[in-house]
Amino acid sequence: MLNNKGRPTQPTAVSEGETSLKTYTGNKGLDLESPLIFEQGVPGRIGVDMADPQPVKSRLGGIERKGSIGLPDLSEPQVLRHFVRLSRQNYAIDAGFYPLGSCTMKHNPRINEKVARLAGLGDLHPMQPTSTVQGALELVDSLAHWLKTITGMPAVAMSPAAGAHGELCGVMAIRAAHEANGESRARILVPESAHGTNPATAALCGYKVDAVPARKDGRMDLDAFADKLGPDVAGVMLTNPNTCGLFETDVKKIADMVHEVGGYFYCDGANLNAILGRVRPGDLGVDAMHINLHKTFSTPHGGGGPGSGPVVLSEALAPFAPIPFVTHGENGFDLVEQKSGAAVQSFGRMKGYHGQMGMFIRALAYMQSHGADGLRQIAEDAVLNANYIRVGLDDKLHSPFEGICMHEALFDDSTLKGTGVTTLDLAKAMIDEGYHPMTMYFPLVVHGAMLIEPTESESRQTLDQFIGAMRHLLDKATTGESDYFLSAPHFAPRRRLDETGAARNPVLRWLPSAPVETEETPLSAAS
Ligand SMILES: *Cc1c(COP(=O)(O)O)cnc(C)c1O
Repeated sequence: MLNNKGRPTQPTAVSEGETSLKTYTGNKGLDLESPLIFEQGVPGRIGVDMADPQPVKSRLGGIERKGSIGLPDLSEPQVLRHFVRLSRQNYAIDAGFYPLGSCTMKHNPRINEKVARLAGLGDLHPMQPTSTVQGALELVDSLAHWLKTITGMPAVAMSPAAGAHGELCGVMAIRAAHEANGESRARILVPESAHGTNPATAALCGYKVDAVPARKDGRMDLDAFADKLGPDVAGVMLTNPNTCGLFETDVKKIADMVHEVGGYFYCDGANLNAILGRVRPGDLGVDAMHINLHKTFSTPHGGGGPGSGPVVLSEALAPFAPIPFVTHGENGFDLVEQKSGAAVQSFGRMKGYHGQMGMFIRALAYMQSHGADGLRQIAEDAVLNANYIRVGLDDKLHSPFEGICMHEALFDDSTLKGTGVTTLDLAKAMIDEGYHPMTMYFPLVVHGAMLIEPTESESRQTLDQFIGAMRHLLDKATTGESDYFLSAPHFAPRRRLDETGAARNPVLRWLPSAPVETEETPLSAAS
């Protein structure tokens, strides 16, 4: 079905035999349909009625805009309703349980928000003279102190804007250190189970990515690792706890081995939540590790919000840290912004300004409100909750690796074999149950992987209900009700989307004169 704009009309949540339940408007109670904002626009409609401006002489030298840029004309309530409606069709950690493995979707305490909005913090400008932002620089310095203390590392680069950006920072520091030594090395070793950003980072820095297989117990294969080591290895990128939710037990040995051939040890610290206050990466021989403030330290993420990925560095890599950084001199705090003096070996600048200030404030508020004992309890409760789920499902789902997990429980899809239901179908049915699905098909080393990370901020009641819902769905899938799954989600604002089509033929621009060609999506097309 195509509507008059050439876009497919949305199948409603009501199944076919029940068309009498369709509404006139397409709305379903609180679930309100709305056209694209461009379709709502009416030429000449305005939100704010302002007097015509005084004519001014243009100083743009002829580059000023000549025509309309095609923004819709809307009233203020239309704009407001549009975005409020869209926000209500989104799932969020503030709406419900969000067990998206590896992403640490924990509650964002509201005290953090309050602090971030304090006058003097919320209205800072990055170009203010440092003499007027001494308090802000002290805050960055205090956060740096906490991060160094928690990780047992001597230095930290604060400017990277996300985990992946932190990886880039770490590998650029590794490359700069080799270059300073007059060496150019060719390979970086990365375990097969690694997050995709690890090999992507190594490749972006010009290294050949050499994948190391996993052992049967889900840890990196030490023999294969030893075989691959050589004088052309720039470093290893290892995640601990790894992406299978397991602690890499030989990590000290791995550090020694890579150091022996003159390489560096990059640790992907996205899973720091599991070991906070229990293990210090600095004691494990790590040279560089990013910390996702938006995971471990609760700053909001998802939906493209700002992340923050400070990178702790060893003595060996600290001289190559990016500028700018905060120093503490006789006249208070200062910023080193140029490659001179202490920063002469810096590999340069990663982004404009000094880092994600709003995230720094939230993260420090989170740390200070928990205190050292509270931070340690975070890790303990995160691991406890993950194991509660693991045990609650272990007679229904198969764990590819034996024993206790860390902060996330990993299952494969062997239970679903022969049912016609895939991990993806199960995930769609979870949406109907009101859950954000777990991470699927990652890590790649596990067939049909389901990676469930509850985090410490969920109660036992929430976990029990989730386990109950999963058991119910798995019983349904294994007793011949596969049709239910193939047509899920039934109750979401949108039904099964053509994800392949969306990725291959994305329509990124609204063209009023040329209707978008879209075939109605067969439900089985998503993959
Ligand atoms: C989230 C994550 C990353 C990337 O972090 P971003 O902040 O999303 O860039 C890297 N590695 C692992 C294991 C992760 O979970």
